[in-house]
Amino acid sequence: MTNTQNAPHDNPEALIDTSKMTAGQRAALELTEAARDAAAERASFGGGLFMGQFGLDQLLPFPEQEASDRARGDAFVHGLEKFLRERTDPDAIDRDGEIPDDVIAELGRMGAFGIKVAPEYGGLGLSQTNYCRAAMLLGGWCGNLTALISAHQSIGVPQPLILFGTEEQKRNYLPRVAKGEISAFALTEQGVGSDPARMETHAELSPDGTHFILNGEKLWCTNGTKAGLLVVMAKTPPKIVAGRERNQITAFIVETDWPGVEVVRRCHFMGLRALYNGIIRFHDVRVPRKNIILGEGKGLKVALSTLNTGRLTLPAACTGLAKRCLEIVRKWANEREQWGAPIGRHAAIADKIARIAANTFAMEAMTFYTASLVDKDKKADIRIEAAMAKLWGTERAWEIVDATMQIRGGRGYETADSLRERGEEPAPVERLMRDCRINTIFEGSSEIMRLFLAREALDPHLKAGGAVLNSQLPLAARARAAVNAGFFYAKWYPKLWLPKLVPGMKTGVDPKLARHLRYAERASRRLARRLFHAMIRFGPKLEREQVLLGRFVDIGTELFALTASCARAHSLMKQTASRREQEDLLQLVDYFCRAARLRVEELSRGVDRNADSAGYRTARTVLEGHVPALSEGMVSRPTSRPHEDPSRLAA
Ligand SMILES: Cc1cc2nc3c(=O)[nH]c(=O)nc-3n(C[C@H](O)[C@H](O)[C@H](O)COP(=O)(O)OP(=O)(O)OC[C@H]3O[C@@H](n4cnc5c(N)ncnc54)[C@H](O)[C@@H]3O)c2cc1C
Repeated sequence: MTNTQNAPHDNPEALIDTSKMTAGQRAALELTEAARDAAAERASFGGGLFMGQFGLDQLLPFPEQEASDRARGDAFVHGLEKFLRERTDPDAIDRDGEIPDDVIAELGRMGAFGIKVAPEYGGLGLSQTNYCRAAMLLGGWCGNLTALISAHQSIGVPQPLILFGTEEQKRNYLPRVAKGEISAFALTEQGVGSDPARMETHAELSPDGTHFILNGEKLWCTNGTKAGLLVVMAKTPPKIVAGRERNQITAFIVETDWPGVEVVRRCHFMGLRALYNGIIRFHDVRVPRKNIILGEGKGLKVALSTLNTGRLTLPAACTGLAKRCLEIVRKWANEREQWGAPIGRHAAIADKIARIAANTFAMEAMTFYTASLVDKDKKADIRIEAAMAKLWGTERAWEIVDATMQIRGGRGYETADSLRERGEEPAPVERLMRDCRINTIFEGSSEIMRLFLAREALDPHLKAGGAVLNSQLPLAARARAAVNAGFFYAKWYPKLWLPKLVPGMKTGVDPKLARHLRYAERASRRLARRLFHAMIRFGPKLEREQVLLGRFVDIGTELFALTASCARAHSLMKQTASRREQEDLLQLVDYFCRAARLRVEELSRGVDRNADSAGYRTARTVLEGHVPALSEGMVSRPTSRPHEDPSRLAA
């Protein structure tokens, strides 16, 4: 990996030309750039892929969970599994829209609200891998319980305090959350979804300097209607950086029983019907200064760092969901006979089953690899791998649940309760589908994950050559940058054309897996070349080519999935003496790699030939309301503006 990667960006304008941006675009860029994680030295496997550096030695041997760590997690994970099976009814939770109080209380007693909190603060002190094992169990059982536990400790109070809390904050709050006091994370607002620069919730220092006075309203705060503690993101007075006023966002710990905190209403959704999600309003709430996490103006860094690890819960939970789907289709495709054979013998259904199985294996490999990085170092830079696992895992999970519904036919569309009442197996595919859909939207939507990964993929180039194209810099600085960039690229670029042995390849890797890994090495160099060519072709305008950048990101992500799958298969094959098991595993992963390679080839073709510009022009035309034929023949309704309707506040 180049040593240009992962350096901090206090002044993004040194790298990115912001002169042609609107004020809103510049503000958004400055905020997110300033919050980018600084200088982790570890070379990222995912980041290396975009530079043609295939760091196989980071995944092979696959970092399997240590036996002692597994044993430490077993008591909790097995207890949780028994409790979920014997004492919870996910269909009833979905039907009632409520999680019974005794279920929440028992989860608290088991330590499920403090899985990663250190024992000295009253938690279980388990590793990220054990946390992911728990998320996997939950994800395959009940989306509502997954969201309760995950919003509380992946993004709620525990995670930012584990990462950045002062000793006093940890002593005050971690024992409370570990015992089961529910917490939540409040970032989103009416006008703030993916773009935090538009935040309106604000906090100003009190005249005596001891408190901040918090005002504003947060939308869709999961757990918010039940929480005792919140992490709230708010704008604090701007700072002057490099001669320009820069917005500041600060993270506060807020207790919901403080005067001025009001739960305005509970929100309801397509799935996750027992989500305790709501609108929370703050009116002159006095927040002690000592409740700032990390420091004034560091809120976005807190949010982004928290989400880096936090969003890993999603692919873990999606793996659980995928395993549940696999269980359902295995049974059904063996048992259901149509047209003279079990439906699993018909090729169109067999194809879906193979995809479900292979993608489930890859999802788990990506998740546990990334979790292992956190276990090696709590502050490890897992931005790229976690985002890839989230993006790939949530998109595949949706395809898997969709394929499961198709395989179950009409019974997939029928509710579990209705199936039960008719005396049939109450497989909850309909509920799983409703609960699954949100995963590609929250904790970083797929579009935002692709932009984020594209930004990371381009980072070494921005550092090596960004200044050359930056019209805001003085000519001398640009000339100096051009010389440095010349040296960098003269050394780096020719290497992308040279075939090489795969560094990190271990002896004993099955030839089939080795062939796929050699492909991934070649494909990584090709990816780096094409990305570089696109930079030359589009210059600073590449940033606007979101669909093209998305293809590069998807190629990198497929290569990560392929490599993680091969590495994990190699490791599992070594752990079993059964030749049959080894061959079955090899067959599964060989199939996965063949399919992934076809996807990579398809995406690569799309880099060279696509209809992106035509699509963009078409969307503009449509957005401007042209092509009347598209609006004819439907019942039209006047557009309503619900946010201007005061009745929305009625609970
Ligand atoms: C059930 C549920 C639970 C939630 N829980 C929480 C919570 O606990 N705490 C919290 O703070 N928030 C929470 N959220 C909010 C959630 O994180 C946001 O919905 C998410 O960030 C997306 O924001 P948005 O819905 O406003 O979409 P927008 O940001 O308005 O985006 C709309 C669409 O445009 C795309 N888009 C946006 N910007 C770009 C761009 N630059 N380029 C390309 N595409 C773009 C998005 O990907 C999306 O597809 C929750 C939401 C839901 C529905």
